[in-house]
Order: sequence, then C-alpha cells, then structure tokens
Amino acid sequence: MEQTSSKNWSPTSWQSHPIKQIPEYSNQKLLKQVYKELKSYPPLVNSWEVEDLRDQLALASRGKAFLLQGGDCAEVFDNCNAPQTVSLLKVLLQMSFILIHEMNIPVVRVGRIAGQYAKPRSKPMEKVAGQELPSYRGDLFNKFEQDEEARMTNPKRLLEGYKLSALTLNFIRSLTEGKGFANLNHPEYWELDFMRRNKYYKEYESMVKSITNAVRFVETISNHKIDALKQVRVHTSHEALNLYYDSAQTQQVPHNKGWYNLSTHMPWLGNRTRDLEGAHVEYFRGIRNPIGIKVGPPFESEEVVRLIEKLNPENTEGKVTLITRMGKDNVESMLPELIRTVERAGLSVIWSCDPMHGNTYATDENIKTRSFDDILTEIKQTFAVHRSEGTFLGGVHLELTGDNVTECVGGANNLRADGLKRNYKTFCDPRLNYQQSLEMAFLITKEWKA
Ligand code: PEP
Ligand code: MN
Repeated sequence: MEQTSSKNWSPTSWQSHPIKQIPEYSNQKLLKQVYKELKSYPPLVNSWEVEDLRDQLALASRGKAFLLQGGDCAEVFDNCNAPQTVSLLKVLLQMSFILIHEMNIPVVRVGRIAGQYAKPRSKPMEKVAGQELPSYRGDLFNKFEQDEEARMTNPKRLLEGYKLSALTLNFIRSLTEGKGFANLNHPEYWELDFMRRNKYYKEYESMVKSITNAVRFVETISNHKIDALKQVRVHTSHEALNLYYDSAQTQQVPHNKGWYNLSTHMPWLGNRTRDLEGAHVEYFRGIRNPIGIKVGPPFESEEVVRLIEKLNPENTEGKVTLITRMGKDNVESMLPELIRTVERAGLSVIWSCDPMHGNTYATDENIKTRSFDDILTEIKQTFAVHRSEGTFLGGVHLELTGDNVTECVGGANNLRADGLKRNYKTFCDPRLNYQQSLEMAFLITKEWKA
C-alpha cells in the first residue's frame, strides 16, 4: 500500500470509490503482478516538463497563448509505427504554424498520443455482426477483434500499452529535438491545393507566402538556417480512464514531494467519469499535473464548480482546462450559464472547446460521422459566447489525423456521406483528415480575429 498523504489520498485510494468504465478484471492475481511491474518501470515524462506545461497553460487562461490539443479518438497498438506518429506531428505542427502566424501568440501543442488507449463506452455489451460481445474498450483493456476471447479484459495489455507509449514518445522526442523535422522550408508543409475550392483560398495563399518569406528573410540576414526545431515542443495527453495504468505510473517526486502522473503530461477526466464521489475524481484530486475536464450535457454548473474546487483547491492558474463539448445545438443555451457560474466562483480555468463529441451522428448507412460545418459552428458559437461573457476561449480539442481518411463529411473538398467508406479507418470516433484539419486551423484564426 502507498503511503497516504495528508489529504487522505494515495495513488490507489480511488479503489474504494464507486468505479465506472473499468470492468472487473477476472484474473486478479495477474492484475496485481502486472501492476507491480508497471510501477517498477521508469516514468515516461518528468515533473519539470509537466510543470512547464502548466505554466504555458496559465498563459492560455489569460488569452496570451492558445492550446491546440488533438489526435486520434483511440490509438491502437498495431498503429504504433513511424508513419502514424510523423503524420500526426506534422499536421499538429502545421496547424500550429497557421495559428501562430494569424494570432500572434504562442501555441501550446498537446497530442492525444502516447497512451490514448482506453475508451469509455455507453454499453458493456455491443452487437457486432449479429453477435453480442463485450464492448471494445480500447487496446489498453481488450482487443477490437470480434470474438469473445479477444474482448476479454487482459491485464497484460497494461504493460503492452506502457511499452508502446514509451516507443511513441521516444520517437516524438527524437523528431522534435533533432534537426530537420520542423524545418519551415519543407514545401510539403504548405500544400495549397486542398484549399483551392475554399472561399478563403487567396487569403490562405498569402499567409503561406508571408510565412515562407519571413523564414527566408531571417535566414538570409542571419546567414544560417533557422533552427525552428529547437522551439518545437509537443506534449502528450490521454484520458486517464484505466486507473490501473495511470495510478501505477503515479509517483511522488523528490524535489517537491508532489505526486505526478508520469505516464503523460496532461491526463484528462472524461465526461462520463466525472462524478464527484467517483473513483476517477478521487484519483485526479491527488495529482499535480495540469488536467483536462470534459464537460457536456448532462451537467449542472454548480456541480462543475464543486468538481473544479475539489480538483484545484488552491485555484492554481494553468491547472484546469475545462473542455466544453456541448454540441452545436446546446452551446448558446448551456455555455453562458456555465461560464457565469465558474466566473462567479472566482475559479481560474483555461476554456477549451471540443467541437467533436457533441456533434456525432450516424448516416443512413449507419456510419458514425461528424460534419465539418457542425464542428465549425460549435467553434464559432463558443468564441462568440466567450466574447459576450468577457472570457477567453483559450484552446481547442479536436479528433484529427494527418492521414487522408474519410470519416467526417464536408470541408472544402466537400466529402459526402456516400464517400465515407472509401478510407474509413477509425477504431472509435470519426476524425478530421489532413486537409480538413488545416482548413479548420485556418478558419479558427478567422473566429479568433472576428
Ligand atoms: C473522447 O475524448 O474521446 C471522449 C470519449 O470524450 P468525452 O469524455 O467528452 O465523451
Ligand atoms: Mn472520441
């Protein structure tokens, strides 16, 4: 047993609270062994990086930086490879260059990566190909394959998830700390073709020209290549849902005696596991990381305030990112009251918008999708509500990929529902593809300036 801290918390104290979304493991003995092994491994990130992210997020809470958080809905073990990581980093970097150029403030990049392996599900069982099977809960719990055996929860997957997260993170570090990857001169960073059909094409073209000219100008006068890489940082985040994984990697660091989840920089609390007395909230209340909290219907603003007070009792700036995911039809009716209640309580938060999770629907052919326009509408409305309430929208939270998948309809290339099957790859929710993501970044800057 861990030593219990003064506030009666330990990395395992969540186990005596009501647990949602973590099915009982049938092999408890194996679970205990795995937990012990996971606990003995070195951490994936360190507390200084985590503190540094919190400081950067503090700027976002004041409108002096912007948080760009994005990646897969669910990472899968089989996709732990170089092309997947490169393509996500590339799209995040490119989006951040667009945001920086147009907004003139630093962008804090946070990937849903290197550990986004656990998913909340609405039902414990699901019907696949005429069969009732335990729901797929993300690779950290079970396998996607459609048979009973694959869907059993297996503790060994916790170790596999940790190792693959370590490989991913190692590669992220080598790309972002080395030379070459973020070189702004790479022509493929500035492909324009996809914007041709967009009414903002001319503006996008001149923005790209201005960025590439600026780079060339500085390189010419300083007579050396800009080492842009040195400035590129990408942080990691995942939903801390499988608390066996997150708590085994939670350690007390010597320099300040604080407890940190060192499997990721920024864990977030899902919309379905934020009950005040539940296991997940109990876990989150003890860690020093900056954290995300997803909030969408159904919720009560007063309860959200109590939740924030519980998770950030000292009201530390940069600690809590409140990620609202209302759905486009609810933003105007629900967000103003939430903002006022949080403001009235004097709580410091970074307001972020997840325009994805409230706007999912199924097509006539029962394909899960989201529309580019609905996503953009939620972002527009969220900006507008913050503007009228006198608060800042400090970031966005998107499900996206650098690949040319066909999962969300719309965008400049006007992907239609009948084209979704062409390259539908997600293991969970539909993501913006490469072109849709860049276009979205560009349109976000328009709202920022509106
Ligand atoms: C998610 O981010 O993939 C997710 C499940 O979100 P939420 O908790 O907001 O539903
Ligand atoms: Mn999702």
